Amino acid sequence: MLARECRLIVSGDTALKYLSTRGDSTARSFSEILLEGLAPDGGLYLPTHYPAVDTTTLARWRGLSYADLAFEILSLYIDDIPPEDLKRLVSRTYTAEVFGSVAITPLRRLGAAEEGVWIQELSNGPTLAFKDMAMQLLGALFEYELARRGQTLNILGATSGDTGSAAEYAMRGKQGVKVFMLSPFGRMSPFQQAQMFSLQDSNIHNLSVQGVFDDCQDIVKAVSNDLAFKRRYSIGTVNSINWARLLAQVVYYFAGYFQATTHNGQKVSFAVPSGNFGNVCAGHVARMMGLPIEQLVVATNENDVLDEFFRTGRYRVRASAETYETSSPSMDISKASNFERFVFDLLGRDGARTAALFGPAVSRDGGFTLTDAERERLPGFGFVSGRSTHADRLATIRDAWQRCGTMIDTHTADGVKVALEHRHPGTPMIVLETALPAKFAATIQEALGREPVRPAGLDGIEALPKRFTVVPVDVDTVKRFIEAEA
Ligand SMILES: *Cc1c(COP(=O)(O)O)cnc(C)c1O
Repeated sequence: MLARECRLIVSGDTALKYLSTRGDSTARSFSEILLEGLAPDGGLYLPTHYPAVDTTTLARWRGLSYADLAFEILSLYIDDIPPEDLKRLVSRTYTAEVFGSVAITPLRRLGAAEEGVWIQELSNGPTLAFKDMAMQLLGALFEYELARRGQTLNILGATSGDTGSAAEYAMRGKQGVKVFMLSPFGRMSPFQQAQMFSLQDSNIHNLSVQGVFDDCQDIVKAVSNDLAFKRRYSIGTVNSINWARLLAQVVYYFAGYFQATTHNGQKVSFAVPSGNFGNVCAGHVARMMGLPIEQLVVATNENDVLDEFFRTGRYRVRASAETYETSSPSMDISKASNFERFVFDLLGRDGARTAALFGPAVSRDGGFTLTDAERERLPGFGFVSGRSTHADRLATIRDAWQRCGTMIDTHTADGVKVALEHRHPGTPMIVLETALPAKFAATIQEALGREPVRPAGLDGIEALPKRFTVVPVDVDTVKRFIEAEA
């Protein structure tokens, strides 16, 4: 009797649930938050703790296939999907057919072996960008969960290019799911537009907003904050604030680590082209779990909100007019929607302080500055940062091509540029390849005087008929559209 009670208490203590970064500590299960966006108090969901992975577990994981590794990691965070179901979903998602190789996220060297710099290929999925890594899994999880509940879902999202197409390709034709995707009018590359707008599936709706990406994101937040509307139309999100997306991204940090090292005593660093801080936040989670990561290198473009923060402790949100249109457009953000997750951890998981910073301070004062005591905690988290400009991108793309014989896209070039500034001898530096050059032909042409190679099957997609609706920056217009189509 006593033993049984003890076990119950122990399992009660360690059961992983989800809470909000703004202090709402109602324990929620994975499936409860899977279809949600923001928590009701406006915060983001995080697990109650990060499961620790010891060296014995790392050793066991080292030999696993990508799908099996994903299953092991996801199992630690998913408390309410039967293991056999999860295993099936994961192994149907991460296949060589969809992602182009058995390794799923293979590494290739950048430069000579002794330089220790790698590119981790995350962009060989259907839309040629790393967001497929998470979104393809999300499509499978959503379909599973909706069927289990007998429900339908209207997905509302904002994209500056890659999220939208990845979401649409993950959800197209899925039973019970409709997608309403907002994108900034005229601000995506012709290839990105073609990828999204050429989809003729009746459950996919493209709304082209006459504003910038952050306007799109604000509309999504406004609609999601109208709880009555949200409930009535079963509004969900696949935005980068979705925890399941972030969780899916944790897996490839482990996969990259195993490929760049031979034993688990070694450390590696990752360089991550960053915008909304989702990708590199997954690296933070992997590091918190115990993956031996020395540095997490945050690379920004001219929109350097995050670089400014890591250099100065000041988080200064930019206005629309101060958000530059760059040649790495998927990083053109003025505030980083996932950043609150890291700050919550940095502040020792103080929900009240996080709420004060991201509620009033960000919305009223346009940002915040850490106290000295808070800033002193930063080095313990392994982050360093840097910024890259258009000229840096061109030079880096050229160098990678001429010296290393590999073609990289503009976002990955930002990552490489900043990675090289932070390299430590003896520690492999893995740069995440967040898109393929084929998506950003104009800048490749400018850098190399030649067209990027386009993967088979995508020739001439710009000429296909397009299906989209132009809307003003107006929450009500978007709501009326959803009411009519949902
Ligand atoms: C989304 C995206 C990024 C930024 O990723 P975050 O998770 O938002 O930081 C970088 N590069 C490309 C190509 C992207 O699509």
